[in-house]
Amino acid sequence: MYEIKTAAVIGAGTMGLGIAGQLANAGVDVLLLDIPADGDDRNAIARRALERLLDDDQPGLLHRDLVERIAIGNIEDDMERLGDRDWIAEAVVEKLDVKRSLYRQIDALRRPGSIVSSNTSTIPISLLVEEMPASFRAEFAITHFFNPVRYMRLLELVRGTDTRTDVMDCLERFNDTRMGKGIVVCNDTPGFLGNRVGVFAIQTALHEAFRLDLSIEEADAIFGRPLGIPKTGVFGLYDLIGIDLMSDVAKSLVSILPAEDEFHAVAAEMPLMVRMIEEGQIGNKSDSGGFYRRSEQGRESLDLLTGEYRAFAPVKPAVAIEAEASGDFTRLIEAQDKYGRYAWEILARTLCYAAKLVPDVSPSLVAIDDAMKLGFNWLKGPFEMIDAIGVDRFIARLEQDGRSVPRFLRAAAGETFYSVKGHRLRYLLADGSFTNLERAPGVIRFSEKRRTLSPLEENARASFFKLEDGIGLVEFHSKANTLDGESMQLLAAAVKHAGKHLSGLIIHNDAQHFSCGVNLESVLGFIARADWSGLDAFLEHFQQTVIAMKHLPVPVVAAPSGLSLGGGFEVVLHADKAVFHANSVTGLVESLVGVVPGGGGVKEMLHRLSDFHGDVVKGAWSAFKNIGYGKTARSPLEAEALAMYRPGIDEYVMNRDRLLSAAVQAIGELRSVYAPVQRPPLPMPGRSVYAEMCAWLEEARERGQLMPHDVTTGAQIAMIVTGGDIAAGEQLSENELCTLERQAFLALAQTEQTRARIEHMLEHGKPLRN
Ligand code: NAD
Repeated sequence: MYEIKTAAVIGAGTMGLGIAGQLANAGVDVLLLDIPADGDDRNAIARRALERLLDDDQPGLLHRDLVERIAIGNIEDDMERLGDRDWIAEAVVEKLDVKRSLYRQIDALRRPGSIVSSNTSTIPISLLVEEMPASFRAEFAITHFFNPVRYMRLLELVRGTDTRTDVMDCLERFNDTRMGKGIVVCNDTPGFLGNRVGVFAIQTALHEAFRLDLSIEEADAIFGRPLGIPKTGVFGLYDLIGIDLMSDVAKSLVSILPAEDEFHAVAAEMPLMVRMIEEGQIGNKSDSGGFYRRSEQGRESLDLLTGEYRAFAPVKPAVAIEAEASGDFTRLIEAQDKYGRYAWEILARTLCYAAKLVPDVSPSLVAIDDAMKLGFNWLKGPFEMIDAIGVDRFIARLEQDGRSVPRFLRAAAGETFYSVKGHRLRYLLADGSFTNLERAPGVIRFSEKRRTLSPLEENARASFFKLEDGIGLVEFHSKANTLDGESMQLLAAAVKHAGKHLSGLIIHNDAQHFSCGVNLESVLGFIARADWSGLDAFLEHFQQTVIAMKHLPVPVVAAPSGLSLGGGFEVVLHADKAVFHANSVTGLVESLVGVVPGGGGVKEMLHRLSDFHGDVVKGAWSAFKNIGYGKTARSPLEAEALAMYRPGIDEYVMNRDRLLSAAVQAIGELRSVYAPVQRPPLPMPGRSVYAEMCAWLEEARERGQLMPHDVTTGAQIAMIVTGGDIAAGEQLSENELCTLERQAFLALAQTEQTRARIEHMLEHGKPLRN
């Protein structure tokens, strides 16, 4: 039985470092080796890499302290240390001879029963291990991670002809449950699945932009969110990854794909890009920029016709706005203008390309969809996109264009690739039959499960379902899952129903973000209408809903992933327990738009931080500063110091596809011993601490650390967490604290500065400093 308790990673570059970081996140001690450096410090390469892992912009670790789990060394002095490692992951440069010579060294030192894997993107496994003994080949596989390893969910696993089944099982189990990856088992074919389809799509988007004379801004406005693809677009993505690196990836696919593969039609090098690479204009990592750059004149973009830079000219075609707002990308391909033609051309080619991979490259369309969703962050995989267009409609349009229709697409005529039968989600196989979609035990994607359920209640913003075992589930599904009156009405109805008829309630969804907070547009609407009583009623309903949820006679578990901010996090704070995804971002960020959390968030943090410090004054100061600065945590481990994650009560899981089953299990465990929390009123710090906080704000403003409106907002937070002008020790109940929150929120909402902050956030997506 193979088991991974210790690991080594060889190659401390982009990928090796990421893998080592994720191993540390998974609780595994890891040895990270690179080549020896010249000079005194022979481990300098691996050491410098570790510093990058702590980079604040792209943190590879759930918590800085986890860096202690990574030991460093070099491949001349430290190879013996591989002898006690269970898994040795190779992530050195993409050169066959370098990898082969390393494997010989590894094989001489590793213990039998250890697993060796390569992160290669392009070299077939047969070539990698050609010269190695059978014992090595039996314990060798390709584990192809995506960059950045902590955040990209896909792991492609490739088996060699001699790889043992139990080695594959071990890699699959460990990387799913501990490393948090969605595993896609691939055949040993060029580019596997993610890069095969993903790079094809990107190259097509690039070539078509040139052919249709689109500006880079126009192309990126279409090949992005409106199509359910990340907002970097095509040219932004080239800049992000590196124009040189992308061009190498395309070249290597050209060298290994068979001559008849359609990739060759979109792989030709663009003269403009050849020149850019020669001149070092390779994207964000170079000072001279790429397709986009920042200069003294501000943001600039490259004109594809002249090759010269000009002022950045953002475009938002109406059809793109519509497609993005409605979440319906099919509107784009219906448009008769150049944008519609561009979108159609990319999708027609890419979706057909994906369909042609079944069954020879992959027997399963689900593997291809997963690869694109988990490896490239597409909202829908190619086959889900065809289903959304309609198989027959798609075929008809291909025929109308005179394009060939792939055989597997024909097999779906009159059907959809996915369908529900007998409460089971099933999908089409190459022979035209259907099979049930089975995931590993414990892996449940709610986006899939919901297709087999009918909601007990639903509106435009949220739905309420009943799962097995009498457990209810509330799913938010508005844009970015922002919360408004309708979302809260649905939650209130679910809470009421759960108290009478259910054995527990889960708040969960499978969107990118659990909830980005209260819908600012709706708040701005109240402000614009000067509808203060309406705003107060909305807040009170929010507060009473989450309080009722907290006091339900049955347990409530929140299971968030992605962002849980502001009002979204206030919902989480009122659950009995939270099961977080390890990369969850949490925080009360209302001060950034000039208000206070008005949904019971200040009250909850005050209680939690008072418990955390064992002292209400200390708790009040922490709540005041954390909420005032709008502090966020980028993992449950970071959240612990802010009392936003409670060890022993809350938990976190590495794989977001396992959140829901962990939440169901948590309900089961809580149910048997459940008694709702009854909190006694809190003895408040009172007026002297309030005065100290106000003085602190003034001093910080005088030092230039706070803007005037930060002081106004801070004073309101101080008022809530101390009780304001009351005697120290005077007690306030949960409801009284909620009233203070609403008063503070309303007072701030009536200021011009708050309105300006909200408008700025809605327009620019970042805070205004005023
Ligand atoms: P990189 O250039 O960032 O890092 C490679 C590292 O390997 C360097 O630190 C180098 O010093 C080290 N190295 C070279 N020879 C070595 C040796 N003999 N022993 C030990 N260390 C050695 O490369 P990367 O982007 O991290 O790619 C590593 C592997 O992962 C490649 O096989 C690549 O194809 C694959 N890959 C890369 C990406 C990506 O997005 N960068 C994604 C998936 C897979």
